[in-house]
Amino acid sequence: MKKRFNAYDKTTDEFLDNILVVCPNCGNKAIVRLKNTHEKDTKMSCTFCGANKYYVDVPKEKYVSERSGLVHEIEDVILGKNIDPYFHLPLWLQKETSKGIVWAYNYEHLEYMENHIGAELRYRDATHNHFRSLGAILPKWMTAQKNRKEVLNTIKMLKQKK
Ligand SMILES: [Zn+2]
Repeated sequence: MKKRFNAYDKTTDEFLDNILVVCPNCGNKAIVRLKNTHEKDTKMSCTFCGANKYYVDVPKEKYVSERSGLVHEIEDVILGKNIDPYFHLPLWLQKETSKGIVWAYNYEHLEYMENHIGAELRYRDATHNHFRSLGAILPKWMTAQKNRKEVLNTIKMLKQKK
């Protein structure tokens, strides 16, 4: 029986509540939590060394509006890279392959990618926000038939990483 799996109904945003990163202080696994879906409440914490960091304290570039004279902060949220969007720390779950870097925000994200890449039958239904969906943003090399085995093996290895 062929596996049928639809990766086009989920976005990476759904994996942003808990992001596993490398602690900048001790190099162990730390977590970036998005609280109350408000970016200002986002916090990085490490249970190994007790490091804490709030997104609100991260220095941001500022600009002064010529018209109003008000100072604006430039929010620097980076999505779709092998760093966390807020503190830009390297992700805990990433590994280089011969074709590129496989990365995930957390174990659920890995699981999701595994299902997507492992599915023999993928279908795209042009419903809500499919342009931002995970299926649409996975790089082509990850889903190419010839790389599938290597990518899946890499995902399996990452799933073992505690
Ligand atoms: Zn630490």
